[in-house]
Amino acid sequence: MSRNKNYNYVENLLLKAPFPSFALDTNGQIIIYNNSCEQLFGYSAQDFHSKDLIKNYLLSTLSEDTWQQILNAEQFLRINQIQMVNKAESLINADIIVIPSTLNNKQCIVIHCLLEEQFSQINYSNQELTDLKNGLLSSFMMVTIDQDGFIINCNSLFLKTSKWTPKRILRKTFWQLFPETEESQEITRNIWNTLTSGNIWQGDVQKISKNGVTYWVHLTAIPTYSQKDEEYRYVLIEQDITYEKELQQKLERIAYVDAETGLMNVHRLENTVKEMIAEEQRFYFVYLSIDKFYTLKELHNTQLENNLIMEFTKRLKIYFQDSLLARINESDFVVITPLGEWFIQGFLTYLKQNPIYIGNRAMPITVSGGITRSPQDQSNFTQLMNASLATIANVRDAGGDNILSLSEATHKALNRKSIIEKRLLLALDQHNLKVLYQPQMDLKTGKINAVEALVRWDDEQIGVVSPDELIPIAEETGLINDIGSFMIEEACKQAATWYQQGFNLKVGINLSVREFRDKNMAKFILNTLMKTGCPAELIKLEITEKFALEAEAETSIIQQMRRLEEEGITFVLDDFGTGYASFRYMQLLPIQVLKIDQTFIQSLTQSDKNQRLINGIVNFGKSMNLTVIAEGVETEEQKQLLEEYECDAIQGFLISKAVTAEEIEHMAKA
Ligand code: C2E
Ligand code: CA
Ligand code: CA
Repeated sequence: MSRNKNYNYVENLLLKAPFPSFALDTNGQIIIYNNSCEQLFGYSAQDFHSKDLIKNYLLSTLSEDTWQQILNAEQFLRINQIQMVNKAESLINADIIVIPSTLNNKQCIVIHCLLEEQFSQINYSNQELTDLKNGLLSSFMMVTIDQDGFIINCNSLFLKTSKWTPKRILRKTFWQLFPETEESQEITRNIWNTLTSGNIWQGDVQKISKNGVTYWVHLTAIPTYSQKDEEYRYVLIEQDITYEKELQQKLERIAYVDAETGLMNVHRLENTVKEMIAEEQRFYFVYLSIDKFYTLKELHNTQLENNLIMEFTKRLKIYFQDSLLARINESDFVVITPLGEWFIQGFLTYLKQNPIYIGNRAMPITVSGGITRSPQDQSNFTQLMNASLATIANVRDAGGDNILSLSEATHKALNRKSIIEKRLLLALDQHNLKVLYQPQMDLKTGKINAVEALVRWDDEQIGVVSPDELIPIAEETGLINDIGSFMIEEACKQAATWYQQGFNLKVGINLSVREFRDKNMAKFILNTLMKTGCPAELIKLEITEKFALEAEAETSIIQQMRRLEEEGITFVLDDFGTGYASFRYMQLLPIQVLKIDQTFIQSLTQSDKNQRLINGIVNFGKSMNLTVIAEGVETEEQKQLLEEYECDAIQGFLISKAVTAEEIEHMAKA
């Protein structure tokens, strides 16, 4: 068969098929789209001139993997039970058949769609229904009720659990299936009203068996219309969940109580506080933390420590009678009380008047506490906790042994934080974050050979938020992951563009350890490289010493780093020298570059000693076969010294602050 014939054959088959069929090129672009498609999906062939319409609309429910599987299909493939999205954004159930083929000399992929609605009309309709019914009957308890509430039908699973015989149950009413408690009757009424008004009811309910034993089911109650009898019927489909319910109740009892003191634990506290807030109750949230608990603990043994906690709990219970008490962790407690501030602060005096004796020695216990009012100061649980910790930090800074209210200053700082959180969510949504690039100069050639990507945010409402303020808040709220993916995508895109334009520029990206806790981090980075066409060798990931210290203990992080290194990505140890320097992790982690922190560079010209120290750091790096970069270089003098030490590259205001990609291009050309 000639190629031409082949073309006609495939094209004819496609165009004339009585079901939706289309052909894609290997990039996923539509090349042929038949009438049936237009009719059933609503999109016209013209709609598909815009790229990705097929992937992002019609087939948008497919996973990336499935999509790739389709584009790379080498033989006939059938993918069952997918959902397609039509132009009106409704879902269409279908199986698709994927056939790799050739059209006009080019490879293409032909896709035939077998829509459920089309096919169930043509064939098997009865068989399918029968299968469905059998499946339901063998997996669920089922009861059918007539429109007056009398049971007219049920299956054997139902009989088994309810202990009824078919003969007896058929004269009973719907209401007799449920216990006679107030609560249960209320639910039963609700189900009946929902059904008789033509709606589906779904939920967990308690039922009662013939011999009075209660059991739990997950119930779906559906109104149906019997054409034969011209009557409404109600079908109850039930799944026994008694075991799960009991287990859950047991777990809740165990999990919600602090085993040592019997006080509620932090989870229960959270629920309670949420309920109180929902009920618009006003209360003081008092967070009490025993000072220097760790030193106290080291001085004594665990038995004594337990006694101490028990005695402390006893005093809390006596002093804060009728208040809610919770234990947060070893040394921290929360009291929820309507009693006023002066009373709360009086607990410290009470504690001094009633010291805790261990043996016959009074323990020198002091407490730091924070009082936050709800709803006036803070109005959700996380905010209450954060506000308390901030207040306590202030109290401790001033020597501890005090209970203070959330101060005006802390209040403002917290407010700014929560505003930043809210605006950041918006900024991420609307792509309002920007990336600037700070150049690095290779000291041997004097050329710009790399840049560091730094996040910039100028919010229309709150103005510029510096990374030093932004990043810690983002880390706390988890939004750092979104910032991270944004930066990675932008940086890879930019690196790829420069690469195509012939610039030889590596791009550094800052990552925090929290982002690597995501098990898919390496995969995400590699995918982004692929998507943007960026060679892995162009990307440097900057991690801090703190990151390294934590990564050392987490094998999954190390594995992900190794995987990235194997692909050609470089790791830079940022802010080197500012903290935890440990030679262990330098061996354990795949680090190729050291970046000497700016504080060292700034002290460079201050004394001989500093110079020897920094010369030493450079030598150390070289002896470990690492590339050494100095950051925060601001003066010609600093640059010259670093050149003398044979430092590899520098970054800092002397070269340039962080600038736009275009400005980088001018510098790299020069
Ligand atoms: P870093 O990674 O140490 O970045 C270098 C910081 O030093 C940048 O501040 C840069 O503008 C500043 N700098 C550069 N040259 C000089 C100089 O010659 N003198 C002085 N005094 N400063 C200089 P920036 O952009 O405010 O970033 C602060 C920190 O925020 C960064 O410190 C980094 O830890 C973090 N950060 C920035 N962007 C990101 C990001 O996208 N993701 C993450 N996780 N962290 C980021
Ligand atoms: Ca950095
Ligand atoms: Ca740094």
